[in-house]
Formats: sequence, structure tokens, C-alpha cells
Amino acid sequence: MYDDRLPVTLAEAERRLWMHLLPKVLEKVPLHEAHGRILGEDIIADRDVPAFDRAAVDGFALRSEDIQGASSQQPVELKVIGTVGAGYVPEKPLSSGEALRIMTGAKIPEGADLVYMVEKTELVEKNGALYVRITRPIEAGKDIALTGSDMARGSVLLPAGRRIMAGEMAVLATFGFAEVSVVRSPRIGIAATGNEVVPVDQPLADGHIHDSNSPMLWSLATSLGLKAHRYEVFPDRLDTLVRRIEQVLADDEVDVLLTTGGVSVGDFDYMLRVYEALGAEVLFNRLAFRPGQPTSVARLGGKMLFGLSGNPGASYVGFHLLVRPYVLRSMGVQAEEARLPHAQATLTEAMTRPSTLPKYIRAELTASGDRLLVRPAGSDRSSLVSTIYRSNALALIPAGEGLAAGSVVDVYYTDGPRH
Ligand code: AMP
Ligand code: MG
Repeated sequence: MYDDRLPVTLAEAERRLWMHLLPKVLEKVPLHEAHGRILGEDIIADRDVPAFDRAAVDGFALRSEDIQGASSQQPVELKVIGTVGAGYVPEKPLSSGEALRIMTGAKIPEGADLVYMVEKTELVEKNGALYVRITRPIEAGKDIALTGSDMARGSVLLPAGRRIMAGEMAVLATFGFAEVSVVRSPRIGIAATGNEVVPVDQPLADGHIHDSNSPMLWSLATSLGLKAHRYEVFPDRLDTLVRRIEQVLADDEVDVLLTTGGVSVGDFDYMLRVYEALGAEVLFNRLAFRPGQPTSVARLGGKMLFGLSGNPGASYVGFHLLVRPYVLRSMGVQAEEARLPHAQATLTEAMTRPSTLPKYIRAELTASGDRLLVRPAGSDRSSLVSTIYRSNALALIPAGEGLAAGSVVDVYYTDGPRH
């Protein structure tokens, strides 16, 4: 059966997955609940920001022509006609020979064409009136934030599909979005399979292991802002697997079901037979890269079944390379952002083991001066759990004889860079 399985490259796996994206459902949420969510529609500036010419510093609004000849020998003194604070508007236009004391953010009076920083001026009193003394000319426009200079009316500020973080929150608030249209998270179901696999809250008998895949996948999904539901561990029994997966789909509890285990060639690996029994359309059942070669994906009733390999390292990589882009693309995220962030880095250790397939190894990426350095997080065996927490990236090692230290490789961030 395994020999019938035609391996697909990552590009081909993506192509097949992206032909069947989930429908995008939008919902409105209050701004403060929009943090971390995916924007549902383009945000277009419906007005200029700033909406009026405003002072960029505390100082004096005045007319540049009035101070053209100012010098320390011949200072110009302008009559201070009042004060305007942020939130207030000047009462009247400014005439020649006058200055208006103005605070950062306040509207520039008509007639003024610059703001002179308060620190560079001196106040003098003459006959009960206040004058500001200027000893150097400056050009028109200085320290005025012009209408629309931050964000111009009509421009697309944020495209649909963008994740709402601090900067996006600030833009949305600036334009008065008390409510934001965001994409509803697809519902992700997670079920580990395996007769040896025991939930974390149950004791281990001899030969058993705790299920580490479900908590790990749940964490990955949650970090992406997805709603994930964990099922019990399913046993390696064809009839039970068929019944439980059928039930989960029939109850319409999830849009995407991630299972781990049972996709390989062992005597108790039933997942492909489950897909067959359910009448699911198999998109692919073998990958042309490591880890997780037997990873399989099937589609049934508009829902996607990801059969990740049970090996922790393989299900981890499978999530990052297949599940993550699929779900994010479904939510309208652009392909480049749906995939892991990509860079190139210099390998600091030789990779001596030859491989007939490209490998995405768990790796540690560090920034050193202006270079990115990468090294394997440990052995690249997919059964290891420790290389997951030691890694913050995947490094792509091409098929072949291995690579010498100093080679430049493609790396994909699974986490922030470490310094
Ligand atoms: P399988 O893909 O079912 O052949 O499993 C491959 C390896 O991964 C076996 O050594 C399993 O014991 C292990 N494994 C399977 N499921 C899990 C799980 N949920 N958590 C940790 N290890 C697992
Ligand atoms: Mg198994």
C-alpha cells in the first residue's frame, strides 16, 4: 500500500490544499477584542489624519515673512495675542506682527505658516503686553503637521487578511472603529491516536506514553489565535476511528480535524483506511520531504482532515508547513504571511548525513551582528520532543550528501529570533 503512495513536494501539497480553502466568515467585534484577530475587510481612510493643520511642538504660531530679517543683533518681537491648547481652536486669524502661543496638537490659526519652538524663544513684556522675541528666521511649514500628512483620505491603510496587532489597533482607533470586522476562526479539532498514547491526566502503564502531540498542537493553534478543541485519544481500531471521526464531522463541531499517528505503514496504522471507509477525498498521502513523510490530508463534506504523523517532531513540522498556511489562507491571509517567515542563515555546524529527500530540521537561529546563524537543535530524528523546545526555526537541508559548515540555508521562523 505504501508503494502506491505518490510523494508530493511542499509546493504541490500547498497547491492542492489551497484549492479547497474553507469559506471565510466575518463577524464584528469590539475593538479591544480584535487584538490578534485577522481583519475581515480593507480599511480605507475616510478622512485625512491629521484632519487639520496642527502644531507639532509647543511654541508660537507665526508668519515666516515677519521673521525673515531676524538676528541676534536685530531680533524681531511679535505680539502674543493669546494661547491655544490642544483640543481648542484659534479664535481668529493671525495678522502680521502677531504670534499665538500654541501647544502640540492644537489647530494652527489662519495666517500662520510655522510654529516656532518655545525653547528657542524669549518672552518680553512691554507696556503690559507680551512679546515673543525671535533671533533667527526659519522656513515656512516648520513644525506644522499638515492635514493628511500621516494618513491621507482614500488610501488603503490595512488590507483584509492582516493580523491586528498594536499598530493596526492604533489605526483602527484613529479612524473611530469601535467595532471591527474580523474573520471568524475556523474550528480546529485535535485528536491523538494510538493504543500506547495516554492523556496527560492518566497514569502510564508499562509501554505507554503521554500524549504530547495534542497539547503541542493546541498551543500552536492557540498562538495563531485559532479556536481549538481537544478530543480524547482515539485508539488504533478501525471501527472506533471511523465511528468517532464520523461523529465529530456529523456533529459539525470542527472545520479542520488534526489527528496524529496511524498514517504510517505499521500493522495498526489505520488512518488511510478510515479515509477510505468514510469516502473522503485524499488530497495526498505522502510527502517528498522529511519529517512526516506519511502525512496525509483528506477532504470530506467541506471539512479538512489532516493526518499528521505521530512522531512529535513530524506533527510539529506538519502543523507549521501545512496546517498553519492552510488555515491562515482560508482566513484571507496573503500567502507570504500565511507561510512561516523566511530568511537565509549560515549553518554553523556541518550536516554530514546524506538524505534522498529535503529535510526541515528543527533548528536554533541566532542573530550575530548583521548575520543570521543557524544550527540543528539536536538530532533530526522526528521522534524527539526535546528538539522542539530547543528550536525557534526550521532549516531546510536540501537532498544530497549533506552540507558543510558555513553553507547558507533557507530558514523559517517558528518563533521570534533569539539573541
Ligand atoms: P505513529 O505515527 O502512530 O506510527 O507514531 C509514531 C511514533 O510517535 C510512535 O513512537 C508513537 O508512540 C509516537 N506518538 C504517537 N502519537 C503520539 C502522541 N500523541 N504524543 C507523543 N508521541 C506520540
Ligand atoms: Mg500509532
